Amino acid sequence: MFAAGIINFRHNKYKMQNTFWNENIETIGKEQLQPLQLKLLKDTVSAALKTSFYKNRLYRSGIKSPDDIKTLGDLNKIPFTTKDDLREAYPSGLLSTSSDDVIRIHTSSGTTGTPTVIYHTKEDLDNWTELVARSIVATGFSRSDIFQNMMSYGLFTGGLGLHYGAERVGATVIPIGAGNTKRQLQLMRDFKTTTIHITPSYALHIHSKFKENNIKRGDLCLKRAFIGAEPHSENTRKKIEEILEIDAYNSYGLSEMNGPGVSFECIYKRGMHTWEDSYILEIVDPVTQEPLCEGKEGEIVFTTLRRKATPLLRYRTRDLAFVYKDSCPCRRTHRRISRITGRTDDMLIVNGVNMFPSQIEEVIMRIPEVGTNYQVQLEKDGALDRLIVKVEIYSKMFTGNVKELDNLKEKIKEELRASIIIHPVVELHEPGSLPVFEGKAKRVIDLRVKI
Ligand code: ADP
Ligand code: ZN
Repeated sequence: MFAAGIINFRHNKYKMQNTFWNENIETIGKEQLQPLQLKLLKDTVSAALKTSFYKNRLYRSGIKSPDDIKTLGDLNKIPFTTKDDLREAYPSGLLSTSSDDVIRIHTSSGTTGTPTVIYHTKEDLDNWTELVARSIVATGFSRSDIFQNMMSYGLFTGGLGLHYGAERVGATVIPIGAGNTKRQLQLMRDFKTTTIHITPSYALHIHSKFKENNIKRGDLCLKRAFIGAEPHSENTRKKIEEILEIDAYNSYGLSEMNGPGVSFECIYKRGMHTWEDSYILEIVDPVTQEPLCEGKEGEIVFTTLRRKATPLLRYRTRDLAFVYKDSCPCRRTHRRISRITGRTDDMLIVNGVNMFPSQIEEVIMRIPEVGTNYQVQLEKDGALDRLIVKVEIYSKMFTGNVKELDNLKEKIKEELRASIIIHPVVELHEPGSLPVFEGKAKRVIDLRVKI
């Protein structure tokens, strides 16, 4: 472990050092990274050629052997892989090893349709665990931490992915999984949990349950949260950090790329380092599919570099982000992506105007009176669309002063209109009245009839 600077954390209680899990690889220079990527890309192409799915495709693109890949630029010869391709290849069209070598299967959560399946060999799981260990150590996490994993275990990759990574670091793991807030809080208090892994929506929710479970912040030793699995805004992160008095680190991953441990924030929280010795990162224009330069927002495309059982080439994630141009003070050389601003399939068209749910979240979460939950509903209003934004507000706002509530409603409406152009209907709700999600939150209910 190596110290390269000290930073005061948000709540200033902890002085944390910038630590590494595998300093050599985390600070690798371009001149070493690129030949490594090329070698691993050839291995991946070689593995892909063994699958029934890629064989024909690569042949059609003139790639008959790994030797047809001579430079990293030759990546452009390889066609993209989409989620639909993965579904088409279901169940085993993408399997590159003997099925005897497979020791685990994971699937995506199926947020947008039929889930996709990824096979893992022992080596695949070992590599994944290393990436997670690297990621969490970058936040200052160490073997002294008590880690409560509040993500679902099972086919969903959030649970087991972080579980093995935290064990490898040598922390104490509490594998409770998602849900059962009462038990979560008890364990957090009794075992002095320092770190939680949780969805941002559930992180906001558990705080609202402190009081009825007789939990005071002072009873807890909580320092940090790894938040991920769903899009959230910077204002949501700030809210989580403020109400729980912790540091929250953004964690991005997807089951097609193993799961968590693809991109993770370090203590500086300026974008998520993406482990480029294990994934080739590209950002492309979602419409023209042309590669975009650093700083330009587009769709994230990944190529696996170390995966044996299910190699994936130029996989279009449908997630939107950009790559930061500047370097990070932590000295990690792996490029950082911004937080995810939306999914290409998340985009809503309301009265002809394109918008992402994240834009709504960004606005409402910066309004101090707004509580910890919200929901967006779309309905038909004659020929037009009606956008209803339901927000929970803190109970102290329900004083019986109707004028005050009307003013607040107007303020939320105005701020939303300025950001998304559309005039929404705003509804104010009491705390705890909107649906709560223990896993990925479903924030948008679209009741418009699809033609
Ligand atoms: P599904 O695509 O069915 O939801 P996964 O469980 O593999 O399947 O979820 C991966 C997706 O979750 C990502 O593609 C992304 O859209 C979302 N996601 C994961 N982590 C984050 C994060 N930190 N910020 C925003 N979105 C995230
Ligand atoms: Zn960094």
